[in-house]
Amino acid sequence: MFPFINLHTHHKETNNNIVSIFNQDLNNFKNVLYYSIGIHPWFINSEQINTDLKQIETHIKSSQCLAIGECGLDKVCDTNFELQQEVFNKQIQLAKNTAKPMIIHCVKAFDKLIALKKQHPDIIMIIHGFNKNNILGKQLQKHGFYLSYGRHILSNNNLLEGINMQLLFLETDTSDINIQTIYTSAAKQLNVSLPALKKELVTNFKAVFKS
Ligand SMILES: [Zn+2]
Repeated sequence: MFPFINLHTHHKETNNNIVSIFNQDLNNFKNVLYYSIGIHPWFINSEQINTDLKQIETHIKSSQCLAIGECGLDKVCDTNFELQQEVFNKQIQLAKNTAKPMIIHCVKAFDKLIALKKQHPDIIMIIHGFNKNNILGKQLQKHGFYLSYGRHILSNNNLLEGINMQLLFLETDTSDINIQTIYTSAAKQLNVSLPALKKELVTNFKAVFKS
């Protein structure tokens, strides 16, 4: 039996049938099996950046740290966009140096993100919480991005139409919805069986995180 993969969550997992990547809070580190760690654009504190990066550098050496993130670019939040880019670029360098994938938060900055991906084609970039239409989704996949979908697919039943399953993940993020519910909806939209979807996402997980 293949486990469910939850690509990104802020809740600690207790179910053995689910493999989760827990998003660490830099100020409140928790003991979990797998996690990601990074500086979110919403929470950049200019006086804290170097300390935060040092902390990420320390954790990134652990085999339990699967990715850098969530980090990224957000044109709608209050953080200065130049500063966001600076902090994101530093995390891209960390990803490059450690060969770790990145879990990315992106709001209204897809052009910038595509340009960065072109500069760093070797870095695996996963856009988490993706909720845009399948035209943009397919375009991003053509550029090599993985897309991770969450609760939005429950209220919009054609987001996954034509989406490549080999570049797909599913997640719960901050919501309390079960990952199983997200999988069931995704399988329906992709017109595949639940076991086939579970198998595919385990294959993706192994390919991306080498674990
Ligand atoms: Zn999140």
